[in-house]
Amino acid sequence: MPLSPKLSADQLEANLADIAPRYTEQQASVESSRCLFCFDAPCITACPTGIDIPAFIKKIMTGNVTGAARTILSANILGASCARVCPTEVLCEGACVLLDRDSDPIKIGRLQRYATDHVYENEIQVLRAATKKSGKRVAVIGGGPAGLGCAAEVAQLGHDVVIFERKPNAGGLNTYGIAYYKMKPEISLEEVELVKSLGVEFRCGVEVGRDVTRADLDGFDAIFIGIGLGDGQRLRIPGEELPEVVEALDFIEQIHTEPLHRVPVGARVAVLGCGNTAIDAATQARRLGAAEVVVIYRRGERDMSAYAFEYDLAKQDGASFLFHHAPVEVLGHDGHVTGLRLVQTRFNASGALEQIGGSEFTEPFDMVIKAVGQQKQSDWLAQLFPELEMNRNGTMKRDFDTGQTSLRKVYAGGDCANGGREVVNAVGEGKKAARGIHRFFGETEAIGPIQPSRWGVAPGPYGSGFDAPIRVPDLEAKYEQLSPASHPAPATSALTSMNQE
Ligand SMILES: Cc1cc2nc3c(=O)[nH]c(=O)nc-3n(C[C@H](O)[C@H](O)[C@H](O)COP(=O)(O)OP(=O)(O)OC[C@H]3O[C@@H](n4cnc5c(N)ncnc54)[C@H](O)[C@@H]3O)c2cc1C
Ligand code: SF4
Repeated sequence: MPLSPKLSADQLEANLADIAPRYTEQQASVESSRCLFCFDAPCITACPTGIDIPAFIKKIMTGNVTGAARTILSANILGASCARVCPTEVLCEGACVLLDRDSDPIKIGRLQRYATDHVYENEIQVLRAATKKSGKRVAVIGGGPAGLGCAAEVAQLGHDVVIFERKPNAGGLNTYGIAYYKMKPEISLEEVELVKSLGVEFRCGVEVGRDVTRADLDGFDAIFIGIGLGDGQRLRIPGEELPEVVEALDFIEQIHTEPLHRVPVGARVAVLGCGNTAIDAATQARRLGAAEVVVIYRRGERDMSAYAFEYDLAKQDGASFLFHHAPVEVLGHDGHVTGLRLVQTRFNASGALEQIGGSEFTEPFDMVIKAVGQQKQSDWLAQLFPELEMNRNGTMKRDFDTGQTSLRKVYAGGDCANGGREVVNAVGEGKKAARGIHRFFGETEAIGPIQPSRWGVAPGPYGSGFDAPIRVPDLEAKYEQLSPASHPAPATSALTSMNQE
């Protein structure tokens, strides 16, 4: 049967409403006053853009909400979307010292949203376009978080920037791919307007490699590549071409571009894969009205890459999970999906995953969502920049501090360079590349986003998260390798090496 929408517009509005709505003034006041305003605040170090979190929380507490937004947006131009989409549990909130007191961490994301919503809603401009121009021109390929992070910083440093974006709107996955209950596309488009207000020129609907050639790009003084990842991986099993087998990204994009009550969904949906994209697809399918959603993963529960809190959310939403199973065929009748033929899997003695002979069975489904990873854009890079040196995993070789690739005037950041991480990593890497470009132009080094009160703080685990970001699970894994008795403070070198991906 062809797929159809399942719920009314009102029901969908309620089901896909913001999962973490804006705080009231009273809630923001109470939450901000719980903060200890740590001097060597670990929450800053855990933020890949190095937002001075205690500084902005104190501003909220004292009623200076505009000032709080200025602190946030001057460190992270996408502060409004990061407030909604960041996995704060494994970043700033995961590092909050209140956790050591067996207390809830400060809800940094919610407070960040409170401050940034205030300036957007009241149309308060907290950042200024540069008045002195260098005359240098930078081409940014891709208008996603990495491209926006780079362009905003380059523009504020006084250089001209053009963003080439192949989609009708900029924002990248922030506009088209984030789970709808976390962030509406309008927020991302408002951020694009903020970047525009800094003097950045956008050329949307323009694909580099098709509408813009390498020769056109060579006319710029520097180039930033922020093209993200490519199409989803194929399953390579019979029946994959049936119309109800859809890419998770296409399914989620439909939710962002069509009225909700026109988005078709199955009654019994299989989601293949178990990363954060699979979880987002499963949760949204349930909220769109699918009666049953089963997430199918060929490995075990402990092996999935989805965050624990995302997994919990999907389970709360009624999705079920089938571990150690893999699809071998999509079954169809009259040209439509009717089910999956599945096989059980296990790890053999040498640790390799294998299918268990004779364990095949069929399950009825009317929709299959593929979420088994995205391809790297290696072909595009090889065609446009054949001289680029590449890593074996399909990413570009680059300097992690500046984003500079093996080509002197070509810089890179975001998913296409790190292999696929979070929005905040993409913004941070775009910004680092902007500073690298600034230095490449022979300008003096740009000053980092450290508040004057923090000058003199030792670099490394303390100080600016922009220069030495940590991720809480990485840190915990590192601690686990140490003897429980010792647990010394992590050395800078250990943290730095963790950041080298
Ligand atoms: C389904 C899904 C859900 C996610 N949810 C979260 C989340 O909740 N929280 C979180 O922090 N992260 C999340 N992420 C990850 C996050 O979205 C990415 O890490 C981030 O968007 C990377 O930014 P980017 O700019 O590198 O790439 P993208 O966001 O992919 O942007 C790249 C841009 O480049 C453009 N482009 C590509 N090729 C060309 C070309 N040749 N010419 C011109 N333009 C081009 C694309 O159209 C796109 O706009 C999610 C990812 C997915 C797939
Ligand atoms: S670690 Fe927690 S308590 Fe300390 S400054 Fe950051 S948010 Fe406040």
